[in-house]
Amino acid sequence: MLHKLWYNIVENKKGGIKMIVDILGTKYELDINNRETGNAGEFLPANETISLKNYDTNESFMYKTLWHEILHAIFYLQGDYNFCDDESFVQRTSNAIAYVIENNLITQNSDLFKEGITNEST
Ligand SMILES: [Zn+2]
Repeated sequence: MLHKLWYNIVENKKGGIKMIVDILGTKYELDINNRETGNAGEFLPANETISLKNYDTNESFMYKTLWHEILHAIFYLQGDYNFCDDESFVQRTSNAIAYVIENNLITQNSDLFKEGITNEST
């Protein structure tokens, strides 16, 4: 489940862990890293990798970025290359998905965006 995956990411990202995310049967390596260059997220289909930059203080932005890269992967896997390559469309849609989940499916008591998760490991 994505939320459990995200919880694990937030808990463990300091350690530079690598995780697997199953998108429509393809298992992508989710690489959280501290690289200084490039985009906040990258979908690398040839390497079956989704790369996310670690923003320690902005987990909500990382969550939106994760959805952005997942949408690239979904459109790619479905052969919807026009959608996959339309950055503006992917950005709007991933922000909308992240918004709905943040504001409806993640309760006030959820640990998902609890500041303590970040602070515990510092
Ligand atoms: Zn993109």
